[in-house]
Amino acid sequence: MDKQQEFVLRTVEERDVRFIRLWFADVLGTLKSVAISPTELEAAFEEGIGFDGSAIEGMTRVFEDDMIVRPDPTTFQILPWRGGPQGTARMFCDIYTPDGSPSLADPRHVIRKTLAQAKEKGFAFYVHPEIEFYLFKKQEDWSQPPTPIDDGGYFDHVPRSPGMDFRRATVNMLEQMGIPVEYSHHEAGPGQNEIDLRFADALTISDNIMTFRTVVKEISLERGIHASFMPKPLTHAPGSGMHSHLSLFEGDTNAFYEAGQEFNMSLTARQFAAGILHHAAEISAVTDQYVNSYKRLWGGNEAPSYICWGHNNRSALLRIPQYKPGKGNSSRIEYRALDSVCNPYLAYSLLLAAGLDGIDKKMQLGEPTSDDVWELTDEERQAMGIQPLPGSLGDAVKIMEKSDFVADVLGEHVFDYFIRNKRQEWHEYREQVTPFELRKYLQKL
Ligand code: GLN
Ligand code: MG
Ligand code: MG
Ligand code: MG
Repeated sequence: MDKQQEFVLRTVEERDVRFIRLWFADVLGTLKSVAISPTELEAAFEEGIGFDGSAIEGMTRVFEDDMIVRPDPTTFQILPWRGGPQGTARMFCDIYTPDGSPSLADPRHVIRKTLAQAKEKGFAFYVHPEIEFYLFKKQEDWSQPPTPIDDGGYFDHVPRSPGMDFRRATVNMLEQMGIPVEYSHHEAGPGQNEIDLRFADALTISDNIMTFRTVVKEISLERGIHASFMPKPLTHAPGSGMHSHLSLFEGDTNAFYEAGQEFNMSLTARQFAAGILHHAAEISAVTDQYVNSYKRLWGGNEAPSYICWGHNNRSALLRIPQYKPGKGNSSRIEYRALDSVCNPYLAYSLLLAAGLDGIDKKMQLGEPTSDDVWELTDEERQAMGIQPLPGSLGDAVKIMEKSDFVADVLGEHVFDYFIRNKRQEWHEYREQVTPFELRKYLQKL
């Protein structure tokens, strides 16, 4: 029993915790939970808790279905929405096979492995996500377009909207759970909100994003509204993204900053950014994993569609603000394709690995694009060497299935499962006769 584990056992007793939820994510990033009682806790730390992995998306093949979850004591938190005494706590878990080796299907294992590779090269990887989502009125018929709870816009102060109070409740609850929040505001769409988490290492931030989604859902249930992270819920309003600010540190020093270089950007930053642009299309099926994700990417409204970078160009995929002397440690690059429903463990593993590949292969970062790339013609973009992101989930899967890079980062197991699952989703979608087609063709043709 180590110190952290002892601390958890003591806290459970002192705070009279009745249930401990063991949390983990499946391959698609859905949160899974199994509750144990305090008497099981010691055994959970020492041997883990067994479960049937074959029932979890992507966990195991049927013939090796036993899985073991072991809680990570550093993630222990009491769940504020369950109240107390006799309350409920949670810990994120790592997953093992019965022989004690890490499960290759565990997204936390994928990111731990990738972070370890970065560490070997002397780097720690930090992420600061801006998470967007919509608040809608409750509805019965989920096939109908949703109704936003207000008609506010970017940074609007909407006094009578339940959205203001909603953000406050969310931020308070996150902070009670040890998740610091940097900003929160109304976003551009009606009923759309954004909450930005303070940067942390990529494993912690992935756990925090999982918790964030749960907190937002809990608060919306409490208030009788529907919170949705769907990437593009409304045809004529912006989608919800999860822009992520990425940085590498060597010890206490930001490895992206170098005074005197162009834009004060180090060679490491340029190569890291080049690596990300190089692999952007291949990793798109993970950063944007649903059919609907591509409606956001190709629906305008400041979502990125083309693989390019700029300083202040909000249609670029990668935004690299000018690095400022005296603020070297806040130097970062902002990747803007991610949406709020990706599996953060896998998406950040791929972004980190892509950046490291750029460093290893000394990839060159091209010129920034200052034009709004949306305004250019296809020919102009081609002349500038600007490629599009995949146009649909189907295209994204076709590109990813040929990628040795993605297979290597995710591991064959996650890679194969992911491809199979996404191919299936694409086929299901492609078969549908949609309301759009009925409206457009039924009467006319
Ligand atoms: N909602 C936009 C997107 O989908 C981003 C808007 C913004 O934060 N600039 O990426
Ligand atoms: Mg923002
Ligand atoms: Mg935003
Ligand atoms: Mg942003």
